[in-house]
Amino acid sequence: MQKQLGKEDVNLIVCHIGNGASVTAVKDGKCIDTSMGFTPNAGLMMGTRCGDIDATILPFIQKKTGYTPEEINRILNFESGLEGIAGMNDLRDLDRAYEAKERKALLAVSMYTERIMEYIAKYYVKLDGKVDAICFTAGGGENDPIIRKETLKKLAPLGIILDEDLNEEMLTRNKKEGIITKPESKIPVYVLATDEELIIARDTYKIKIGGE
Ligand code: AMP
Repeated sequence: MQKQLGKEDVNLIVCHIGNGASVTAVKDGKCIDTSMGFTPNAGLMMGTRCGDIDATILPFIQKKTGYTPEEINRILNFESGLEGIAGMNDLRDLDRAYEAKERKALLAVSMYTERIMEYIAKYYVKLDGKVDAICFTAGGGENDPIIRKETLKKLAPLGIILDEDLNEEMLTRNKKEGIITKPESKIPVYVLATDEELIIARDTYKIKIGGE
């Protein structure tokens, strides 16, 4: 993103929408907050993880069902999220069901994008409204125009104006990445390919070798 924006000290909101999913706030080029928490289950609704829920649901389920903590943990991590609501955890399947207007898929997309919107709005405030760009990345963020469009529609009060043609065009599976908003959009939104392996390798090198 620094390359695209032509500066190092960027303020960004990064939406990593893969099997696991998170939103990150970046201030002056550094991460200052992320939606994940004690475990990756915090924050966004995901393929099979529920994300943020009312903690009191846990003793409620335990009392109702008699499930052990291990069983409840399995359900929260492997049978919740899109899987729990729509019965499918891959966004490609969900999109097909959404386009066929299946009720559970419509609900799942609405819930899923609502949560992304909430984190973007929260980080917009946390960054004092000084956001150079919003970035969608990872499997779904890079390749799912429906999720991007439904999320950005909910962010219209921030003056974000999607270019629907660019949104359909920017798919990293077709080797296309770049801006998906109109020039008059108050915040530009980009689609960029993630490279987690490279970042992990760089960080590991820094820790092991102690170099910068
Ligand atoms: P990741 O964890 O980054 O590898 O992302 C994997 C997820 O990206 C899959 O489970 C899908 O939900 C999503 N994904 C991958 N390809 C596509 C696509 N062509 N359209 C929509 N979603 C996709």
